[in-house]
Amino acid sequence: MNDTQREGKIIKVSGPLVVARGLEETKMYEMVRVGKMGLFGEIVEIRADRFSIQVYEETSGIGPGEPVVSTGAPLTVELGPGLITSIFDGVQRPLDKLRSSFGDFVLRGAEVPPLDRKKKWHFIPRRKVGERVVAGDIIGVLPESPIIEHRIMVPAGIEGVLVSISERDAILEDTVAVIKTEDGEKSVALLQKWPVRVARPVSRRLPPVSPLVTGQRVLDTLFPITKGGTACVPGPFGSGKTVVQHQLARWADAEIIVYVGCGERGNEMTEVLIDFPELIDPRSERPLIERTVLVANTSNMPVAAREASVFTGITMAEYYRDMGYSVALMADSTSRWAEAMREMSGRLEEMPGEEGYPAYLASRLASFYERAGRVICTGSDGREGSLSVIGAVSPPGGDLSEPVVQATLRVVKVFWSLDDKLAGQRHFPAINWLSSYSLYQDLVDNACSTSVNQFWAKNRQEAMAILKKESELEELVRLVGMDALSVQDRLLLEGAKMIREDFLHQNAYDPVDSYTSLPKQFWLLRVILAFYHCAYQAINAGAELEDITALPVREEISRAKNIPEKELERFDTIAKKVSASIEALKPSGERL
Ligand code: ADP
Repeated sequence: MNDTQREGKIIKVSGPLVVARGLEETKMYEMVRVGKMGLFGEIVEIRADRFSIQVYEETSGIGPGEPVVSTGAPLTVELGPGLITSIFDGVQRPLDKLRSSFGDFVLRGAEVPPLDRKKKWHFIPRRKVGERVVAGDIIGVLPESPIIEHRIMVPAGIEGVLVSISERDAILEDTVAVIKTEDGEKSVALLQKWPVRVARPVSRRLPPVSPLVTGQRVLDTLFPITKGGTACVPGPFGSGKTVVQHQLARWADAEIIVYVGCGERGNEMTEVLIDFPELIDPRSERPLIERTVLVANTSNMPVAAREASVFTGITMAEYYRDMGYSVALMADSTSRWAEAMREMSGRLEEMPGEEGYPAYLASRLASFYERAGRVICTGSDGREGSLSVIGAVSPPGGDLSEPVVQATLRVVKVFWSLDDKLAGQRHFPAINWLSSYSLYQDLVDNACSTSVNQFWAKNRQEAMAILKKESELEELVRLVGMDALSVQDRLLLEGAKMIREDFLHQNAYDPVDSYTSLPKQFWLLRVILAFYHCAYQAINAGAELEDITALPVREEISRAKNIPEKELERFDTIAKKVSASIEALKPSGERL
């Protein structure tokens, strides 16, 4: 034990909560090792001489009188090469290495360094001896995986002149550079550490400007998220949540993916651990895991570890953002984390808030989502990085008015409402267009109106208006039957059906349909709307709706989503066919 460490004694154990005495001077959120087994825990409440600890491992077999040793440091993660491709548990223990050392059941109290201490990395300097560097400057790089370059940055709080740096093979703890600062020489190793509850510093936060293109039409066109934005997605069982997450991980234009799994049941996590490493990155055609970090709570870790996993995940994500990458973090499910907060709060006998959740539920969720953003990274080169956060929620019974969903919706800007009814009708992605929203809409409209097509916003607004009108008309049909509808209304229903089936519906398993670029999204919607407009005019001029819907070009539109990205000019041909063939149906006197 060193000076900052204290040893206390357990006086009470209640599930994941352990109360100890004798830890004077130990601080809030400090890490402690609990009991003879040395289980990992964190101080979450201090009342006079009683220290409450949330323990991240199963506490059975631990009892009063056993020691609790403070570590003098808060929960901290290791940051360095080797994070990519790794699978960690909530306190950043490498699951694969734990398994090979201790077997399938993680040995409690087992201490395995998160990152491989022996592996050699080829460090290539980017700065020279004699140059002045500040915190955040990239002083060298190394290939972390075949597709990701790891950038070694000057750690926070260090500024000075490089006195040594050279190309070499180094292990994590080797010094790769020495910086002469006002407080003497400081060495920089490949390995750095950071306390998980503290957001990593940035030079400046920037407003979002560009969409995080996902290639999923319903998301990009109707409910876009930006680079650095936040979104929430509820996932009733079987609604296609896993497929949406996989699609985002594969296609979103983020360079690094961090996936945090807080599963309830062990097998939910097993699916992730098996599925993710098998996904192939469609752009590099290499395993997606080569640009992914996974954090997974194993079933033998108690609920308290969920909170640790969320903060561990976001800290690693911030680290890659700081290198100048665009990072997307997915957390599934944040409701499980909130339930863990409720359980701990109950055991701590705190005053319960809504539905037994602690009063700080909203602020704790916010402290996680607020770490998303587009930023100018620290360092003198002004590079930009972004961290987008997508949190899944799993409200009991799909009830969106419950506290976790409501607290999340207050902080996130996008809501993708996955709907089990749509999934039941095999409409995938089952994102309900009437209840979803994006507060980035105007911003993305502006961006896409410049970068894709000036009619981008008009297209989207019109499609949404048709879909909304469809739901009103459906209500009317339910009440009074189809006969009550005018021919224009029946055409609108046809138009809405085309938007749903030929545009929103997207098959994740079809090699072409799986991803749609923004220009293709625009043209696909454009031809559908062109069909609707021409048909509307023709009907007003006396043409028959049945003749219009029977036109072969209608069929051609329904196949247009399979037009390859390289052949977008075919949309032009379809658009011409639309106007010509519908025009031909107008009674002769009305033709132009
Ligand atoms: P959840 O994780 O919500 O339980 P999944 O993501 O596993 O649900 O989806 C259930 C099933 O729905 C999948 O096996 C697949 O057959 C179908 N599915 C979901 N999304 C799509 C999609 N975009 N394209 C095609 N099929 C889909």
